Amino acid sequence: MTDSIYDMVIIGGGPAGLTAGIYASRALMNVILFEKGAYGGQMLTTAHLENYPGFPDGIGGFELADLMHKQAETFELPIEYRSVDKIRKEGELFILDSGSEEIRTRSVVLATGATPNKMGVPGEERLTGRGVSYCATCDGALYRDRTVAVIGGGDSAVEEALFLTRFARRVHIVHRRDQLRAVPLTSKRALENEKITMEWNTVLTEVRGEDEVKELLLKDVKTGETRSIEAEGVFIYVGITPNTDLVSELAQLDSGGYVVTDQTMRSSVPGLYAAGDMRSGSIRQVTSAVGDGATASFYAYKYLEE
Ligand code: NAP
Repeated sequence: MTDSIYDMVIIGGGPAGLTAGIYASRALMNVILFEKGAYGGQMLTTAHLENYPGFPDGIGGFELADLMHKQAETFELPIEYRSVDKIRKEGELFILDSGSEEIRTRSVVLATGATPNKMGVPGEERLTGRGVSYCATCDGALYRDRTVAVIGGGDSAVEEALFLTRFARRVHIVHRRDQLRAVPLTSKRALENEKITMEWNTVLTEVRGEDEVKELLLKDVKTGETRSIEAEGVFIYVGITPNTDLVSELAQLDSGGYVVTDQTMRSSVPGLYAAGDMRSGSIRQVTSAVGDGATASFYAYKYLEE
């Protein structure tokens, strides 16, 4: 057990966590941020952001993550790259287990984000990294002049399909309905893009290929007919699941597993705040995550003062 008691522990180094950290370190709190992977969260899997204010020409997800991290460094926010395995509350203190170490803190900002969903179809797991991907930003350039498919009709699917047209010869968007869920401007761009073919009312039922993806089995949900298309890559964007296991027995979650907060980002547990994509009611944007992070940090500070 470390002797010191933190004022605040932030869990997660995406836009919500980094922003909470910038606010807390500027407030001279005794704060630390734990991140189990790389800082940046889902920004790292986003090729290009057009709706983050201050960048009229848009900005790459990696680049924005780096800038936020740099800003956190400017204010000397301590960041440790390790996972927090458990959280419990004893009296006024939160006890966090991280490996064999116990960390004590007076407040917690949970900013653990969300994880992309899998389709759960045959071949998906086996061929992940060999044609099946959840990150067009990371893998898109491998598909120069090839045919790929994107599964889903939300903002992520459609934006990443547009990104993939920079490389691929043809991009099929496989969507289970006959209307996109993505915002109108993004949808319009996709519908007008000559490299994109819409596969409406269609779901992916199998990914085929021996060592690499070669073929996708598709099913028309209206007629039940199945057919196959040749594709060397398939990018799956069928929504996200909140990373809230850590607090599932501590804080109130909504029916989707998102942490319920009030407007100060406080969860059902005093001293425990939630910010970003795993918060119930979040619009799941980088902009809103940043706002949540600032709000959570601000009110955690007030909570500690009181
Ligand atoms: P999403 O909005 O939940 O969209 C998921 C898509 O996958 C939907 O089109 C859904 O179909 C489809 N889908 C879900 N389960 C499926 C299944 N089992 N089989 C086939 N299709 C399935 O998820 P997202 O696109 O990852 O976006 C998550 C959040 O981040 C959203 O709030 C989004 O607005 C936000 N986001 C914003 C931006 C931006 O502002 N630039 C960029 C990316 C994401 P249905 O449409 O039929 O439900």
